[in-house]
Amino acid sequence: MDQNLSRIVAQDKNFLNIINGRRVAALSQETITVLCPSDGLPFATIPAGNADDVDRAVRAAREAFERGPWSRMPAFERGRLLTRLGQLVEEHGDELAALESRDTGKPVRQGKADVAATMRYYEFYGGAADKIHGDTIPFLDGFTALTLREPHGVVAGIIPWNYPMQIMARVVGAALAMGNTLVIKPAEDASLSAIRIGELAIEAGFPDGVLNIITGYGRDAGAALSSHPGIDYVTFTGSPVTGTAIQQAAAANNRGVTMELGGKSPQILFADADVEKALPVLVNAIIQNGGQTCSAGSRILIERPIYNDVAAALGERFSKLVAAPHDMDLDLGPMVNPAQKRKVENFITSAAESGIEVVARGSIHVDAPLEGYYVAPVLFGAVDPASVLAQEEVFGPVLSLFAFDDEADAIRLANGTDYGLVAGIWTRDGARQHRVAKKVRAGQVFVNAYGAGGGVELPFGGFKKSGHGREKGFEALFDMSATKTVVFRHD
Ligand code: NAD
Repeated sequence: MDQNLSRIVAQDKNFLNIINGRRVAALSQETITVLCPSDGLPFATIPAGNADDVDRAVRAAREAFERGPWSRMPAFERGRLLTRLGQLVEEHGDELAALESRDTGKPVRQGKADVAATMRYYEFYGGAADKIHGDTIPFLDGFTALTLREPHGVVAGIIPWNYPMQIMARVVGAALAMGNTLVIKPAEDASLSAIRIGELAIEAGFPDGVLNIITGYGRDAGAALSSHPGIDYVTFTGSPVTGTAIQQAAAANNRGVTMELGGKSPQILFADADVEKALPVLVNAIIQNGGQTCSAGSRILIERPIYNDVAAALGERFSKLVAAPHDMDLDLGPMVNPAQKRKVENFITSAAESGIEVVARGSIHVDAPLEGYYVAPVLFGAVDPASVLAQEEVFGPVLSLFAFDDEADAIRLANGTDYGLVAGIWTRDGARQHRVAKKVRAGQVFVNAYGAGGGVELPFGGFKKSGHGREKGFEALFDMSATKTVVFRHD
């Protein structure tokens, strides 16, 4: 265990919520025990917040919004504070990477990449805060019409466990840049980095009540937050089922939502593609974070003449993949919790039992503790596009291969699920790159690359069941604000 991990284990056992700039326990004093996915052992506790705690946090955010230390602060000063938070994230980078890695089981290398992205979100939105302008609109003679971008008010951010620090950063960055105040509810399986970032925001000098962090189970704290009448807007990343429940709760109060709900993202490999360049990208797009990535490239569509060669080459790479404890920093870590491990294993078992060809399997490291939640990666070949494996999000290290005959067939297969988050296109044919990019129904399309979510500057979000609204980039700033039209008569 490295020094950072021992320090965290030794000192940071009991994490507290942050409400109105203060560290507080749940009113009930109840806690949730945090287990490390690599060995199943407890190492920290978080407050088990419920509706009373949520109410306290929403009131603090409301009071801060109305009082105006944030919403009326000049935009460039809000930007400076966000940038300062990004600097503190960078300064505490090793600690945050170790914490995230231990909490979620992701390899430390991935924890470090998450810290770098988190820092970039605060830097990007810090710089963007004073660059969102309204319009002046040509209108009737004797009138001047203009638009202002105004904050919604109090925003609720409900965060998943797969990239907790990054996803919280994109919500916090965009919402706070526009002058909203926030209540963040991280996932019960991965709340530690959210609490640390909340503490760093206090250190950065954020006014009290601007960024409140409340931990607890989804059915308690999450449900109470999404249905609270004091919330003006809800942004959620997670499963479609929970997304539907949150939308129904927000609809009861007629509130707006942004939904980022996962995917079944295809990568299309045409026969003229640079296969050598593609192979490591194809593998990484499903192995990164153990496949627990909404933008995971979980379906590879391969043009028939190169299908056998590509399947063999991917099989060779898959057979060498090793799942291991996070601090061994190998190809992938464990799944986040026992339920996720069971869910992924069930997909694998039923697919294999239904006769789908297993092209290759990776392994679990011999020294991985038996109590950890490991799943060996699996590559399935010649998958039936109508099968459960082809249609449903596995959220684990499971890759499916499909053969296609021509461009129209590839597009039909690519668009043949309920999801539409990300797509990859691999071909040297320039005209085809443009044609296919336009026809694929996905919020992000990569050509001869696959960004697994891409940079902080790139708008991100789904078509169809993958959700609606956009996060990242400047687009998120529009979701996190409302247009007010003001008309002056001066004749
Ligand atoms: P989830 O969607 O249920 O949880 C995400 C967040 O929502 C957590 O903070 C959780 O506490 C909260 N939540 C849960 N129920 C709620 C409710 N009724 N009201 C308000 N908030 C609620 O995800 P999960 O159960 O942890 O994982 C289930 C599946 O979701 C995974 O297997 C995976 O397929 C998918 N998932 C997708 C993403 C993504 O980025 N698209 C992220 C995580 C999980």
